[in-house]
Amino acid sequence: MAAVKSFRSRDTVSTIMMLSDQSDMPVRKPPLSKQLWKGMAVSDCFYNPARFGVEYHPATRVTEADFDRHLLTLSSGEKVRYEQLLIATGLQPRRLPGDCAEAVYFNSLADFRRVRQKLAAGGSAVVIGGGLLGVELASSLSANGIRVKLVISSEAPLTGYLSEPLAVRIRARLQAAGIECITGRRAIRLEPGGRVQLSDGKQLDADVVIPVIGQQPSVDFVSHDPEVSRHGLAVDARLRIKGLEDVFACGDVARFGVQASSFRHEENALRSGAAAGRNLAGDDVQFKPSSFLYSEFLDMRLESIGVGNAAEMKAIGEDWSDSKEQGICILTEDDLVRRVSMVNYRMDSETAEMLSSRLIGRSAEADQLQIVRTVLKPAA
Ligand SMILES: Cc1cc2nc3c(=O)[nH]c(=O)nc-3n(C[C@H](O)[C@H](O)[C@H](O)COP(=O)(O)OP(=O)(O)OC[C@H]3O[C@@H](n4cnc5c(N)ncnc54)[C@H](O)[C@@H]3O)c2cc1C
Repeated sequence: MAAVKSFRSRDTVSTIMMLSDQSDMPVRKPPLSKQLWKGMAVSDCFYNPARFGVEYHPATRVTEADFDRHLLTLSSGEKVRYEQLLIATGLQPRRLPGDCAEAVYFNSLADFRRVRQKLAAGGSAVVIGGGLLGVELASSLSANGIRVKLVISSEAPLTGYLSEPLAVRIRARLQAAGIECITGRRAIRLEPGGRVQLSDGKQLDADVVIPVIGQQPSVDFVSHDPEVSRHGLAVDARLRIKGLEDVFACGDVARFGVQASSFRHEENALRSGAAAGRNLAGDDVQFKPSSFLYSEFLDMRLESIGVGNAAEMKAIGEDWSDSKEQGICILTEDDLVRRVSMVNYRMDSETAEMLSSRLIGRSAEADQLQIVRTVLKPAA
């Protein structure tokens, strides 16, 4: 939708056809694990393609792309011809071995509805994965009176984004909210009856099981190359797929650099979409990816800039205020700042960009924590 909007600001006459395998209107995904559980109306997270003169085709899955002939094949067998193509198919959840009727691989509005319906009369849930999505869903379900067990493979959640002491504080907050954190173990298999086998031989049972153990680009209609399936479609600075003149990609499915997964967030999806839309309309916009991400769980907010896995980095600056429950950590690798994460601060995207250019990739210095504190002060 970001691409459609910026394309239309340049070109009001060309036909835009939008194909989606979802039966709903296009939806903003972040509310699915947060605000929708706090009473936000489903209609408030829809985008409206008709506003931009888009021919929207829901429940239409693309199964094959023939770039030479400019043809897409749909699951119905129908063919669609295009002049220019934008691929924005996002990510799909990684799956665990085994299956059960209680499992929901949470990624869409339909999944939100399924979980809500299964737990309408209360009950229990096992959420598998201590990343952003796992923590958000565990918090939202628990706040709705569901008994939640959260399976975390490390000792604390969010260790990909936070230094250990900050991650341990988040674990304590989740536990205080009534979420049972099962740490240091992996879920290895799903079995009928909502049963989850753990790596230590134990098992958990629940009314709903939500595995959120990672995601991978939805590219099977383009390529089965394991490199592409893992990292996405490599694009150049103008968001063209390398080697193709008239095919662009944006958002989570695109690969902007080596650390592909560090750019799979809403801010980068919106910005890359906006740039791709202008380039489709004939502009020449160079895109620089944004690593800025945010997450909300319980009454807390996490924001982060930078790339890479915090669990493999060294924290060189760390701050935590118990009274305000605010924290900052600066994480380095090979003496270079790679990631800066904040708990209960709020930046706008310009501040995030400015902070990124001042800190990310720079040598670690003693005054960097002070820089972050100063920059964030007015926003805190
Ligand atoms: C539950 C949830 C919560 C999130 N919360 C946050 C957050 O708090 N902060 C944040 O920064 N980011 C968050 N994200 C990530 C953010 O939503 C994504 O970065 C963003 O949606 C990416 O946009 P996109 O357009 O690239 O892909 P998507 O929004 O995933 O859209 C891709 C669309 O393409 C469709 N599609 C896929 N394959 C095909 C096909 N072959 N044919 C037709 N259609 C197809 C998909 O069904 C989907 O509708 C969250 C994601 C989820 C799932």
